[in-house]
Amino acid sequence: MEWRGKRGSRNIEDRRGMGVSGAGGIGIVGMLAVLAFGYFFGIDISPVVNSVSQTQMSSGEQRELTAEEQQMGEFVSVILAETEDVFGQTVPDYRDPQMVLYSGATQSGCGGASAQMGPFYCPMDQKVYLDTDFFATMQNRMGAGGDLAAAYVIAHEVGHHAQNQLGILPRVTQMRQQSSERDSNYLSVLTELQADCFAGMWARNSAQDLQITREDIGEAMDAAAAVGDDALMQSAGRAVVPDAFTHGSSADRQEWFMRGYDAGNLESCNTFKAAGL
Ligand SMILES: [Zn+2]
Repeated sequence: MEWRGKRGSRNIEDRRGMGVSGAGGIGIVGMLAVLAFGYFFGIDISPVVNSVSQTQMSSGEQRELTAEEQQMGEFVSVILAETEDVFGQTVPDYRDPQMVLYSGATQSGCGGASAQMGPFYCPMDQKVYLDTDFFATMQNRMGAGGDLAAAYVIAHEVGHHAQNQLGILPRVTQMRQQSSERDSNYLSVLTELQADCFAGMWARNSAQDLQITREDIGEAMDAAAAVGDDALMQSAGRAVVPDAFTHGSSADRQEWFMRGYDAGNLESCNTFKAAGL
């Protein structure tokens, strides 16, 4: 994959050098309350990373970004720009989302955010929140590294924004509020698998521009498997309980990414129709 030298997005809000004093008083209670409302649509890695770094939470110092962080910022910016091109051509009246880069913890329109929650999309302020250390966590602790693995995560979150623009997220959120926990989880899975499919659709349409290879697709497949609910439950030493899935199994996540990649259009990503809804 060749991303260097490509257009970067202007829709990046980089909070990484700011410290977290502006995040002010995010307690665990606040985070759980936010999670309970179900506004977060993300790559949930809390079973793997379940402790908030106290040093990161308490430091309010300004600091310089490391060379690695700067490069990561450039990479995210290019991938975001690629999603703007692709979703702009496929979603009617598409408006670009903002991408917030942060370190450790920050405040979002959906409440407090911390790195342990993984990247997520907040429909309330239409922003994607990403702690760029997540990509190192994916590589080192979940065995899913590589440029397209990281790009898949970004495109998945932007996919949630596309779902929001298409009116899917508001409908799902309303349906989930009127559902049993089990049905609500299932609706969440269908939403997440559709975002995976949108990410695959994006990869197909950016394949030429970014020179995406078969090897790259293999990285995205590994990442999709690593963030499957069954894989996350297993690596956390828990029993695998399908009724508790909120993002889909490893196999389902891989399948829907590939459906989007093979077809290259949004229509092939109707997980709700496929489930008979
Ligand atoms: Zn998601």
